[in-house]
Amino acid sequence: GATIGIVGGGQLGRMLALAAARFGYRIAVLDPAADCPASQVANEMVVGPYGDEAAMRRLAGLSDVVTYEFENVAVEPIRKALGDTPLSPPAEALEVSQDRVVEKAFLNGIGVATAEWRAIDAAEELAHALLDLGGDCILKTRRFGYDGKGQARISAQTTFSDAFEAIGSAPAILEKRVPFAFELSVIAARGRDGSVAAYDPAENVHTLGILKTSTVPGRIPPEIADAAKAVAGQILTRLAYVGVIGVEFFVGNDGTLLVNEIAPRVHNSGHWTEAGCLVSQFEQHVRAIAGLPLGPTARHFDCVMENLVGDEVRRFDALVAEPATMVHLYGKAETRSGRKMGHVTRVAPLSKPL
Ligand code: ATP
Ligand code: MG
Ligand code: MG
Repeated sequence: GATIGIVGGGQLGRMLALAAARFGYRIAVLDPAADCPASQVANEMVVGPYGDEAAMRRLAGLSDVVTYEFENVAVEPIRKALGDTPLSPPAEALEVSQDRVVEKAFLNGIGVATAEWRAIDAAEELAHALLDLGGDCILKTRRFGYDGKGQARISAQTTFSDAFEAIGSAPAILEKRVPFAFELSVIAARGRDGSVAAYDPAENVHTLGILKTSTVPGRIPPEIADAAKAVAGQILTRLAYVGVIGVEFFVGNDGTLLVNEIAPRVHNSGHWTEAGCLVSQFEQHVRAIAGLPLGPTARHFDCVMENLVGDEVRRFDALVAEPATMVHLYGKAETRSGRKMGHVTRVAPLSKPL
């Protein structure tokens, strides 16, 4: 059978591997840790640094198609290492999503609205940019931020050295803080044939920068859901994308949609799809990159997905005894505070029929 190569063996890689196994694909995983979560499911492990060209060449040698579970894969090494082995989603999606300045410029360039922003290449530029944007802003590292790390809220009162100390260093991006009513995300997919499918958007709540819950349908009116799905489709098409994408939005009190960021991969806020839909985001990604038809995205339950972070994994015994709950643990040996250990999805009958 064909082999799917996955760069990254965390929980997302593991869940992709589980879905791919149900279609009889073999799985090769590249990760620095031989005992990473996906290693328990993979047929082959390539142990090495993510950005290492030699390791990626070994992965490519084992694989018919290569994908990734995180957006910080070094673009030039993977391009060189892969040669003729197809990469899905394409390298352009990595380039756009791994740098917040490139990402916002791309989005604005295709007519998609974001928070107002300024690139900050040196600390001296901060004062002017802050004045320009009118105070109350968030300074973020351009690259490598996740779970709210590498961010500092700043106002006219903040000393700039404090702000830069908090996030590390330039290059950075300064974003106007958006007074959103709530946040939502769209999980969407594009197939090799160019077809596009989107799941219902989820309302997301973050605690200390980490996603806590995703609720579908949440507080999302149908017209906002449709508008958000349309934006996701536009992004997919403009990137000639193949695979699943996560698009995070801010929703204003007046219903205005601003894109926060895009993730060129399966997304934590889409984990509810494994309980709520016939075809989960993981199977959908496998279908797309394997050149199969996209699966149905219709939702059959109302869902609340909750992340089990750190010690919360101890709730497993109680959760697994609930009657309408799907529990998913990631097989991480060590529980650490702030670490995503698993998630749970509670389902209820559809509040609105299909
Ligand atoms: P992820 O784990 O989703 O990749 P991240 O570290 O890349 O997160 P962001 O998504 O940029 O970070 O920001 C994390 C959260 O911080 C957002 O979901 C939102 O709640 C808040 N936030 C970020 N930027 C802004 C903004 N410009 N205005 C208001 N809130 C913001
Ligand atoms: Mg992010
Ligand atoms: Mg985010």
